[in-house]
Amino acid sequence: MKIIIRITSLVLLFMVCFSFAEYNKPAKKTAASKTSPPSTGTPYYSTDEIIKIRIYSQLKATALMFAPTNGIYEVQADGRTILKLDSKGLLKISWSGDSIEIKTTENNLGRCKSLKIISDDIENGFKLRLLSPDKKPRFYDGNLSVNVEEKILRLVNQTKMDHYIAGVSEAEAGKRSTLEFYKVQAILARTYALGHIQKHVADGYNLCDQVHCQVFYGKTTDHDILEAVKITKGQVVVDQDLQLISAVFHSNSGGQTANSEDVWGTSTSYLRSVKDSFCLKMPNARWERKMATEDWLSYLKIRYKYPVEDSLAKSFALNFKQEHRKSNIEYAGLKIPLKNVRTDFQLKSTFFSINPQGDTLIFKGRGFGHGIGMCQEGAMCMTKSGYSYKDVLSFYYQKVHLIDIKEMNFFKEN
Ligand SMILES: [Zn+2]
Repeated sequence: MKIIIRITSLVLLFMVCFSFAEYNKPAKKTAASKTSPPSTGTPYYSTDEIIKIRIYSQLKATALMFAPTNGIYEVQADGRTILKLDSKGLLKISWSGDSIEIKTTENNLGRCKSLKIISDDIENGFKLRLLSPDKKPRFYDGNLSVNVEEKILRLVNQTKMDHYIAGVSEAEAGKRSTLEFYKVQAILARTYALGHIQKHVADGYNLCDQVHCQVFYGKTTDHDILEAVKITKGQVVVDQDLQLISAVFHSNSGGQTANSEDVWGTSTSYLRSVKDSFCLKMPNARWERKMATEDWLSYLKIRYKYPVEDSLAKSFALNFKQEHRKSNIEYAGLKIPLKNVRTDFQLKSTFFSINPQGDTLIFKGRGFGHGIGMCQEGAMCMTKSGYSYKDVLSFYYQKVHLIDIKEMNFFKEN
Protein backbone atom coordinates (compact mmCIF):
# COMPACT_ATOMS: atom_id res chain seq x y z
CA MET A 1 0.00 0.00 0.00
CA LYS A 2 1.32 3.36 -0.97
CA ILE A 3 1.50 5.74 1.95
CA ILE A 4 2.74 9.26 1.74
CA ILE A 5 3.31 10.81 5.15
CA ARG A 6 3.48 14.54 4.96
CA ILE A 7 4.13 17.21 7.58
CA THR A 8 1.90 20.14 6.87
CA SER A 9 3.17 23.66 7.13
CA LEU A 10 1.25 26.43 8.81
CA VAL A 11 0.60 27.85 5.38
CA LEU A 12 -1.09 24.67 4.23
CA LEU A 13 -3.12 24.49 7.43
CA PHE A 14 -4.27 28.05 6.89
CA MET A 15 -5.30 27.25 3.33
CA VAL A 16 -7.20 24.16 4.41
CA CYS A 17 -9.07 26.17 7.04
CA PHE A 18 -9.79 28.85 4.48
CA SER A 19 -11.12 26.26 2.07
CA PHE A 20 -13.43 24.85 4.71
CA ALA A 21 -14.72 28.28 5.61
CA GLU A 22 -15.58 28.88 1.98
CA TYR A 23 -17.00 25.41 1.65
CA ASN A 24 -19.42 25.99 4.50
CA LYS A 25 -20.97 29.01 2.88
CA PRO A 26 -24.12 28.60 0.85
CA ALA A 27 -23.16 27.88 -2.73
CA LYS A 28 -23.47 30.55 -5.34
CA LYS A 29 -22.35 30.29 -8.93
CA THR A 30 -21.01 33.81 -9.06
CA ALA A 31 -18.96 33.19 -5.93
CA ALA A 32 -16.80 30.64 -7.74
CA SER A 33 -14.02 33.14 -8.24
CA LYS A 34 -13.62 33.43 -4.48
CA THR A 35 -13.05 29.71 -4.17
CA SER A 36 -10.63 29.00 -6.97
CA PRO A 37 -8.36 26.06 -6.23
CA PRO A 38 -5.19 27.06 -4.40
CA SER A 39 -2.25 26.69 -6.75
CA THR A 40 -0.25 24.60 -4.26
CA GLY A 41 -2.21 21.43 -4.94
CA THR A 42 -4.14 21.55 -1.65
CA PRO A 43 -7.69 20.18 -1.74
CA TYR A 44 -10.23 22.26 -3.56
CA TYR A 45 -13.76 22.45 -2.21
CA SER A 46 -16.35 23.45 -4.70
CA THR A 47 -19.10 25.66 -3.36
CA ASP A 48 -21.33 24.47 -6.14
CA GLU A 49 -24.36 22.85 -4.46
CA ILE A 50 -22.52 20.79 -1.89
CA ILE A 51 -24.53 19.33 0.96
CA LYS A 52 -23.51 17.76 4.28
CA ILE A 53 -25.43 14.67 5.33
CA ARG A 54 -25.03 12.93 8.63
CA ILE A 55 -24.86 9.23 7.75
CA TYR A 56 -25.75 6.23 9.89
CA SER A 57 -27.42 8.84 12.05
CA GLN A 58 -29.64 6.36 13.91
CA LEU A 59 -26.76 4.05 14.89
CA LYS A 60 -24.18 4.27 17.62
CA ALA A 61 -21.16 3.90 15.35
CA THR A 62 -17.88 3.25 17.15
CA ALA A 63 -15.69 1.59 14.50
CA LEU A 64 -15.55 1.59 10.72
CA MET A 65 -13.42 0.93 7.66
CA PHE A 66 -12.87 3.54 4.98
CA ALA A 67 -11.52 2.74 1.51
CA PRO A 68 -11.44 4.99 -1.57
CA THR A 69 -13.08 3.41 -4.63
CA ASN A 70 -11.39 5.85 -6.97
CA GLY A 71 -9.13 8.88 -6.79
CA ILE A 72 -6.76 9.94 -4.05
CA TYR A 73 -7.98 10.91 -0.58
CA GLU A 74 -6.10 13.08 1.86
CA VAL A 75 -6.47 12.20 5.54
CA GLN A 76 -6.42 15.23 7.82
CA ALA A 77 -6.21 14.73 11.57
CA ASP A 78 -7.04 17.93 13.49
CA GLY A 79 -6.27 19.91 10.32
CA ARG A 80 -2.92 18.24 9.70
CA THR A 81 -2.44 16.02 6.64
CA ILE A 82 -1.09 12.69 7.84
CA LEU A 83 -1.68 10.38 4.93
CA LYS A 84 -2.77 10.03 1.33
CA LEU A 85 -4.86 7.05 0.36
CA ASP A 86 -5.49 5.58 -3.09
CA SER A 87 -7.99 2.88 -4.06
CA LYS A 88 -5.72 0.17 -2.66
CA GLY A 89 -5.63 1.90 0.71
CA LEU A 90 -7.72 1.17 3.76
CA LEU A 91 -8.26 3.01 6.99
CA LYS A 92 -9.66 1.72 10.26
CA ILE A 93 -11.27 4.42 12.35
CA SER A 94 -12.49 3.78 15.87
CA TRP A 95 -13.82 5.61 18.87
CA SER A 96 -11.38 5.66 21.76
CA GLY A 97 -12.40 7.63 24.84
CA ASP A 98 -12.75 11.25 23.79
CA SER A 99 -10.68 10.69 20.64
CA ILE A 100 -10.67 9.01 17.24
CA GLU A 101 -8.06 6.31 16.68
CA ILE A 102 -6.74 5.93 13.12
CA LYS A 103 -4.97 2.87 11.76
CA THR A 104 -3.91 1.50 8.40
CA THR A 105 -3.43 -2.24 7.94
CA GLU A 106 0.24 -1.73 8.87
CA ASN A 107 0.48 1.28 11.13
CA ASN A 108 -1.23 2.96 14.03
CA LEU A 109 -1.39 6.60 13.00
CA GLY A 110 -2.41 7.89 16.39
CA ARG A 111 -5.41 9.79 17.69
CA CYS A 112 -7.19 13.03 16.91
CA LYS A 113 -10.36 14.93 17.81
CA SER A 114 -11.48 15.70 14.29
CA LEU A 115 -10.84 13.70 11.15
CA LYS A 116 -11.47 14.77 7.57
CA ILE A 117 -10.96 12.49 4.60
CA ILE A 118 -11.03 14.59 1.48
CA SER A 119 -10.52 13.99 -2.21
CA ASP A 120 -9.28 16.65 -4.61
CA ASP A 121 -12.32 15.85 -6.75
CA ILE A 122 -15.79 15.77 -5.15
CA GLU A 123 -16.83 13.26 -7.86
CA ASN A 124 -14.57 10.61 -6.33
CA GLY A 125 -16.07 8.06 -4.01
CA PHE A 126 -15.42 5.68 -1.17
CA LYS A 127 -16.62 2.51 0.47
CA LEU A 128 -17.63 2.58 4.10
CA ARG A 129 -18.17 -0.41 6.31
CA LEU A 130 -19.36 -0.07 9.86
CA LEU A 131 -17.63 -2.63 12.06
CA SER A 132 -19.44 -1.69 15.25
CA PRO A 133 -22.33 -2.15 14.90
CA ASP A 134 -21.55 -4.56 12.08
CA LYS A 135 -23.24 -3.50 8.82
CA LYS A 136 -22.94 -4.27 5.13
CA PRO A 137 -20.69 -1.89 3.19
CA ARG A 138 -22.18 1.21 1.60
CA PHE A 139 -20.78 3.42 -1.13
CA TYR A 140 -20.69 7.22 -1.05
CA ASP A 141 -19.49 10.04 -3.28
CA GLY A 142 -17.49 13.00 -2.00
CA ASN A 143 -15.78 13.45 1.36
CA LEU A 144 -16.16 12.17 4.91
CA SER A 145 -15.66 13.88 8.23
CA VAL A 146 -15.57 12.08 11.57
CA ASN A 147 -16.02 13.65 15.01
CA VAL A 148 -16.55 12.32 18.50
CA GLU A 149 -20.01 12.92 19.92
CA GLU A 150 -20.35 11.64 23.46
CA LYS A 151 -19.50 7.93 23.14
CA ILE A 152 -19.97 7.54 19.41
CA LEU A 153 -18.49 8.68 16.11
CA ARG A 154 -20.42 11.26 14.15
CA LEU A 155 -20.04 10.63 10.42
CA VAL A 156 -20.83 13.36 7.91
CA ASN A 157 -20.72 12.88 4.15
CA GLN A 158 -20.08 15.95 2.03
CA THR A 159 -21.38 15.39 -1.44
CA LYS A 160 -22.85 17.10 -4.47
CA MET A 161 -26.53 17.89 -4.15
CA ASP A 162 -27.36 15.87 -7.28
CA HIS A 163 -25.58 12.76 -6.00
CA TYR A 164 -27.50 13.09 -2.75
CA ILE A 165 -30.81 13.51 -4.61
CA ALA A 166 -30.12 10.42 -6.71
CA GLY A 167 -29.41 8.41 -3.54
CA VAL A 168 -32.60 9.66 -1.88
CA SER A 169 -34.67 8.89 -5.00
CA GLU A 170 -33.51 5.28 -4.91
CA ALA A 171 -34.12 4.96 -1.16
CA GLU A 172 -37.62 6.49 -1.42
CA ALA A 173 -38.79 5.00 -4.73
CA GLY A 174 -36.86 1.72 -4.87
CA LYS A 175 -35.50 0.12 -7.99
CA ARG A 176 -37.45 -1.00 -11.08
CA SER A 177 -39.64 2.06 -11.43
CA THR A 178 -40.10 4.30 -14.49
CA LEU A 179 -37.76 7.06 -15.58
CA GLU A 180 -40.70 9.46 -15.42
CA PHE A 181 -41.51 8.51 -11.82
CA TYR A 182 -37.86 8.97 -10.84
CA LYS A 183 -38.09 12.50 -12.25
CA VAL A 184 -40.99 13.19 -9.87
CA GLN A 185 -39.09 11.71 -6.93
CA ALA A 186 -35.91 13.62 -7.80
CA ILE A 187 -37.77 16.95 -7.93
CA LEU A 188 -39.49 16.27 -4.61
CA ALA A 189 -36.20 15.20 -2.98
CA ARG A 190 -34.52 18.39 -4.25
CA THR A 191 -37.43 20.57 -3.12
CA TYR A 192 -37.35 19.03 0.34
CA ALA A 193 -33.56 19.23 0.67
CA LEU A 194 -33.43 22.90 -0.29
CA GLY A 195 -36.45 23.74 1.82
CA HIS A 196 -34.79 22.16 4.87
CA ILE A 197 -31.16 22.94 4.18
CA GLN A 198 -30.82 24.57 7.60
CA LYS A 199 -32.58 21.79 9.52
CA HIS A 200 -29.46 20.44 11.25
CA VAL A 201 -27.11 23.39 10.78
CA ALA A 202 -26.84 23.85 14.55
CA ASP A 203 -25.58 20.25 14.70
CA GLY A 204 -22.90 20.92 12.07
CA TYR A 205 -24.55 19.43 8.98
CA ASN A 206 -27.56 20.05 6.73
CA LEU A 207 -29.69 16.91 6.88
CA CYS A 208 -29.64 13.48 8.51
CA ASP A 209 -30.07 10.25 6.53
CA GLN A 210 -33.25 9.01 8.26
CA VAL A 211 -36.99 9.66 7.78
CA HIS A 212 -36.63 12.67 10.08
CA CYS A 213 -35.15 14.30 6.96
CA GLN A 214 -34.91 12.02 3.91
CA VAL A 215 -33.72 8.42 3.77
CA PHE A 216 -30.27 8.15 2.13
CA TYR A 217 -28.17 5.00 1.89
CA GLY A 218 -25.38 6.44 -0.24
CA LYS A 219 -24.77 6.63 -3.94
CA THR A 220 -26.86 4.95 -6.61
CA THR A 221 -25.59 3.48 -9.86
CA ASP A 222 -29.09 3.06 -11.31
CA HIS A 223 -28.97 4.53 -14.82
CA ASP A 224 -32.60 5.73 -14.88
CA ILE A 225 -32.30 7.49 -11.52
CA LEU A 226 -29.09 9.27 -12.51
CA GLU A 227 -30.71 10.24 -15.81
CA ALA A 228 -33.84 11.55 -14.03
CA VAL A 229 -31.72 13.75 -11.73
CA LYS A 230 -29.79 15.08 -14.74
CA ILE A 231 -32.89 15.83 -16.83
CA THR A 232 -34.60 17.66 -13.95
CA LYS A 233 -31.44 19.46 -12.80
CA GLY A 234 -32.25 22.49 -10.67
CA GLN A 235 -36.03 21.98 -10.86
CA VAL A 236 -38.05 22.51 -7.70
CA VAL A 237 -41.76 22.88 -6.88
CA VAL A 238 -43.00 26.21 -5.51
CA ASP A 239 -46.44 27.46 -4.46
CA GLN A 240 -48.27 30.56 -5.66
CA ASP A 241 -46.05 32.75 -3.46
CA LEU A 242 -42.92 31.17 -4.96
CA GLN A 243 -42.13 29.40 -1.70
CA LEU A 244 -40.70 25.89 -1.86
CA ILE A 245 -43.54 23.49 -1.13
CA SER A 246 -43.62 20.99 1.68
CA ALA A 247 -43.12 18.05 -0.69
CA VAL A 248 -44.95 15.43 1.34
CA PHE A 249 -46.06 12.09 -0.01
CA HIS A 250 -47.45 8.80 1.21
CA SER A 251 -47.68 5.24 -0.06
CA ASN A 252 -51.33 4.95 -1.19
CA SER A 253 -54.27 7.37 -0.91
CA GLY A 254 -56.96 4.66 -1.13
CA GLY A 255 -58.77 6.64 -3.83
CA GLN A 256 -58.77 10.10 -2.29
CA THR A 257 -55.96 12.21 -0.84
CA ALA A 258 -56.49 14.21 2.37
CA ASN A 259 -56.63 17.93 3.12
CA SER A 260 -53.61 18.91 5.21
CA GLU A 261 -55.76 20.49 7.94
CA ASP A 262 -57.71 17.24 8.46
CA VAL A 263 -54.52 15.48 9.52
CA TRP A 264 -52.09 18.14 10.65
CA GLY A 265 -54.44 20.95 11.62
CA THR A 266 -52.97 23.49 9.20
CA SER A 267 -54.51 24.35 5.87
CA THR A 268 -51.99 24.55 3.02
CA SER A 269 -53.01 25.89 -0.39
CA TYR A 270 -51.45 23.09 -2.42
CA LEU A 271 -52.21 20.14 -0.09
CA ARG A 272 -55.87 19.70 -1.01
CA SER A 273 -57.91 16.52 -1.18
CA VAL A 274 -58.26 15.08 -4.70
CA LYS A 275 -60.08 12.02 -6.00
CA ASP A 276 -57.39 9.59 -7.06
CA SER A 277 -58.32 6.49 -9.05
CA PHE A 278 -54.73 5.80 -10.15
CA CYS A 279 -53.71 3.77 -7.09
CA LEU A 280 -56.84 1.65 -6.61
CA LYS A 281 -55.35 -1.56 -8.01
CA MET A 282 -52.09 -1.25 -6.13
CA PRO A 283 -51.06 -3.47 -3.18
CA ASN A 284 -51.69 -0.88 -0.46
CA ALA A 285 -55.12 0.24 -1.72
CA ARG A 286 -57.06 -1.85 0.82
CA TRP A 287 -56.57 -3.28 4.27
CA GLU A 288 -58.62 -5.01 6.96
CA ARG A 289 -58.35 -5.21 10.73
CA LYS A 290 -60.47 -7.13 13.23
CA MET A 291 -61.25 -5.69 16.64
CA ALA A 292 -63.39 -6.90 19.55
CA THR A 293 -66.54 -4.75 19.76
CA GLU A 294 -65.96 -4.37 23.48
CA ASP A 295 -62.44 -2.98 22.96
CA TRP A 296 -63.69 -0.37 20.50
CA LEU A 297 -66.51 0.79 22.75
CA SER A 298 -64.38 1.00 25.88
CA TYR A 299 -61.75 2.99 23.94
CA LEU A 300 -64.41 5.51 22.85
CA LYS A 301 -65.86 5.75 26.34
CA ILE A 302 -62.58 6.11 28.25
CA ARG A 303 -60.68 8.33 25.85
CA TYR A 304 -63.56 10.49 24.55
CA LYS A 305 -66.44 10.01 27.01
CA TYR A 306 -68.47 8.75 24.07
CA PRO A 307 -72.04 7.83 25.20
CA VAL A 308 -71.84 4.07 24.49
CA GLU A 309 -74.86 3.42 26.74
CA ASP A 310 -77.04 5.37 24.31
CA SER A 311 -78.25 2.80 21.77
CA LEU A 312 -78.28 5.24 18.84
CA ALA A 313 -74.78 6.48 19.66
CA LYS A 314 -73.56 2.90 20.07
CA SER A 315 -75.02 1.81 16.75
CA PHE A 316 -73.44 4.83 15.06
CA ALA A 317 -70.00 3.97 16.47
CA LEU A 318 -70.27 0.33 15.39
CA ASN A 319 -71.37 1.19 11.88
CA PHE A 320 -69.21 4.21 11.12
CA LYS A 321 -68.75 4.61 7.36
CA GLN A 322 -66.57 6.72 5.05
CA GLU A 323 -67.41 6.88 1.36
CA HIS A 324 -65.32 10.01 1.14
CA ARG A 325 -62.54 10.92 3.53
CA LYS A 326 -63.75 12.38 6.82
CA SER A 327 -61.59 13.98 9.48
CA ASN A 328 -63.66 12.94 12.53
CA ILE A 329 -66.11 10.41 13.83
CA GLU A 330 -68.79 12.93 14.72
CA TYR A 331 -71.88 12.23 16.80
CA ALA A 332 -74.14 14.86 18.39
CA GLY A 333 -71.40 17.48 18.44
CA LEU A 334 -68.73 15.13 19.83
CA LYS A 335 -65.72 14.87 17.51
CA ILE A 336 -63.22 12.03 17.60
CA PRO A 337 -60.29 12.83 15.30
CA LEU A 338 -59.59 9.93 12.95
CA LYS A 339 -55.88 10.75 13.02
CA ASN A 340 -55.91 9.88 16.75
CA VAL A 341 -57.74 6.63 16.12
CA ARG A 342 -55.17 5.74 13.48
CA THR A 343 -52.28 6.42 15.85
CA ASP A 344 -53.86 4.70 18.86
CA PHE A 345 -54.60 1.49 16.95
CA GLN A 346 -51.69 1.77 14.52
CA LEU A 347 -54.00 1.54 11.53
CA LYS A 348 -52.62 1.89 8.00
CA SER A 349 -54.82 4.93 7.31
CA THR A 350 -57.69 7.04 8.65
CA PHE A 351 -59.82 6.13 5.61
CA PHE A 352 -61.84 3.20 6.98
CA SER A 353 -65.40 2.00 7.55
CA ILE A 354 -66.60 -0.34 10.30
CA ASN A 355 -68.70 -3.46 9.78
CA PRO A 356 -69.97 -5.46 12.80
CA GLN A 357 -69.75 -9.26 12.61
CA GLY A 358 -70.99 -10.93 15.80
CA ASP A 359 -68.81 -9.75 18.69
CA THR A 360 -66.18 -8.55 16.29
CA LEU A 361 -65.77 -5.43 14.19
CA ILE A 362 -64.15 -5.51 10.78
CA PHE A 363 -62.35 -2.27 9.99
CA LYS A 364 -62.23 -2.09 6.21
CA GLY A 365 -59.63 0.46 5.24
CA ARG A 366 -58.32 2.13 2.15
CA GLY A 367 -54.81 3.42 1.47
CA PHE A 368 -51.59 3.47 3.45
CA GLY A 369 -50.07 6.54 5.08
CA HIS A 370 -51.27 10.01 6.07
CA GLY A 371 -52.89 10.61 2.68
CA ILE A 372 -51.48 14.11 2.17
CA GLY A 373 -49.75 15.26 -1.01
CA MET A 374 -48.57 12.75 -3.58
CA CYS A 375 -49.73 9.15 -3.53
CA GLN A 376 -46.58 7.24 -4.56
CA GLU A 377 -48.35 4.18 -5.95
CA GLY A 378 -50.79 6.39 -7.87
CA ALA A 379 -47.96 8.51 -9.25
CA MET A 380 -46.16 5.39 -10.39
CA CYS A 381 -49.31 4.16 -12.18
CA MET A 382 -49.79 7.57 -13.80
CA THR A 383 -46.30 7.47 -15.31
CA LYS A 384 -46.85 3.89 -16.51
CA SER A 385 -50.03 5.08 -18.28
CA GLY A 386 -48.08 7.77 -20.13
CA TYR A 387 -48.55 10.82 -17.91
CA SER A 388 -45.50 13.07 -17.55
CA TYR A 389 -43.79 14.03 -14.32
CA LYS A 390 -45.33 17.49 -14.67
CA ASP A 391 -48.82 15.95 -14.92
CA VAL A 392 -48.16 13.96 -11.74
CA LEU A 393 -46.94 16.96 -9.76
CA SER A 394 -49.81 19.21 -10.81
CA PHE A 395 -52.34 16.47 -10.07
CA TYR A 396 -51.21 15.85 -6.48
CA TYR A 397 -50.12 19.40 -5.58
CA GLN A 398 -52.57 22.15 -6.55
CA LYS A 399 -51.63 25.40 -8.21
CA VAL A 400 -47.90 24.81 -7.94
CA HIS A 401 -45.14 25.76 -10.35
CA LEU A 402 -41.97 24.03 -11.43
CA ILE A 403 -39.09 26.44 -11.55
CA ASP A 404 -35.34 26.37 -11.75
CA ILE A 405 -33.75 26.94 -8.36
CA LYS A 406 -31.47 29.57 -9.87
CA GLU A 407 -34.50 31.71 -10.54
CA MET A 408 -35.16 31.87 -6.82
CA ASN A 409 -31.70 33.19 -6.19
CA PHE A 410 -31.76 30.62 -3.46
CA PHE A 411 -28.07 30.45 -2.83
CA LYS A 412 -27.88 34.11 -1.98
CA GLU A 413 -24.96 34.90 0.26
CA ASN A 414 -25.68 36.79 3.43
ZN1 LIG B 1 -32.96 14.94 10.30
